[in-house]
Amino acid sequence: MRIEVVTIGDELLLGYTIDTNAAHLARELAGLGVEIVRRTTCGDSGDSIAAAVGDALDRADGVITTGGLGPTSDDLTKPSIAALFGREMVLDATHLAWMRERWATRWPDKPMPASNAQQAMLPVGARKLTNNHGSAPGIFLEDARGRWVAMLPGVPREMRGMLADTLLPIVRERLGTVTRVVRSRTLRTTGVAESLVADRVGTQLDGVGEVGLAYLPNADGVDLRLTVRGLSPEVADARLAEAASRLRSVMGDAIYGEQQADLAEVVLEACRARGLVIGVGESCTGGLLGARLTAVPGSSDVVRGGVIAYDDDVKRTLLGVPAALLAEHGAVSEPVVRAMASGVRARLRVGAALAITGIAGPGGGSEAKPVGTVWIALDLNGAVESRQLRLWGDREEVRRRSAQAALELLRRALASNPAA
Ligand code: AMP
Ligand code: MG
Repeated sequence: MRIEVVTIGDELLLGYTIDTNAAHLARELAGLGVEIVRRTTCGDSGDSIAAAVGDALDRADGVITTGGLGPTSDDLTKPSIAALFGREMVLDATHLAWMRERWATRWPDKPMPASNAQQAMLPVGARKLTNNHGSAPGIFLEDARGRWVAMLPGVPREMRGMLADTLLPIVRERLGTVTRVVRSRTLRTTGVAESLVADRVGTQLDGVGEVGLAYLPNADGVDLRLTVRGLSPEVADARLAEAASRLRSVMGDAIYGEQQADLAEVVLEACRARGLVIGVGESCTGGLLGARLTAVPGSSDVVRGGVIAYDDDVKRTLLGVPAALLAEHGAVSEPVVRAMASGVRARLRVGAALAITGIAGPGGGSEAKPVGTVWIALDLNGAVESRQLRLWGDREEVRRRSAQAALELLRRALASNPAA
């Protein structure tokens, strides 16, 4: 099955909105073994929507569009594609009634604006795709030759929900028995430079068969993505498993998880298993580490809290860092980061205390301590461990990498110390 994607919206062409919908569609369809063969983006004019979808339909079996289904004047997807199919637009009374009810529960004292009714106008013969996250229904239109267009909303959350709830099942049904798939598996590493990762991987994958390997460096580390194409689901999975196990054998514990694994979640899980409670003391990351940890649902039984010890005065008064250490070594130093970690452990009464102090830039660096100089420390039940990082990138990256390195310090300490 050949599918093309057309994403619609002036904001995409202008570069104000990044086209995450197309990326998400490609990944989800690949999971079914369907490759997106082409992606087009067009603006909100009726002519360009009709032209883009018309061209795509000439080449493909199916076209998925996102955007332009809302109630405003720039939402022209439905009428332009209906015209392309030579279909009239008619009011779907059931949908209109449902919208009125939905409106009344949210804004009981205001009448529903007339413009909203446009969302209940559907092309004749269209199949409605349920929207469980918003009010605009999606639309599935098919022509006499079996070529189809599925129109999904632009809002990413609504688009993802509708894709999973209604469109993927339709595509799956049309595919029948899947004989050939595209599958990927991602191993996430951290703390090892990209070139060193590449060195270690070397020729490990030789002889596994055709497996694509992509090195994807980012602020969290280097992801290794394996991809196989054109195989049966069983062979694809077996080949990915073999390739992944070879990568694991050389990367060892630098791999903290697979697919979208989050290091904060991995660390929380390890602490939870040991009944360890975490506290943080943060200078240059200003709460980022605490935010990473508390972003994980259910973190409250493991995370006790933290101190944003940005000013030296806070390091002294709230974390008990001795003034003499600050005066002698400066805030970005090994003695200070160790004292911060121990201060967090004692004052927050936790088993695992992480501390970060560094120079995130762009200003504040010196020859001895250039921008990107960061110290991290862990006080694990009284055993203190510290590390200096020499980070690169802009302020945001330095902060992100610092928080990630602190999490990694704790993950490794727990891995090498099963009794902690
Ligand atoms: P629309 O359904 O066209 O009114 O789009 C609603 C909102 O969804 C827009 O303001 C964008 O922020 C977002 N959006 C639309 N298309 C995309 C896309 N392809 N990728 C990511 N966000 C999008
Ligand atoms: Mg739009």
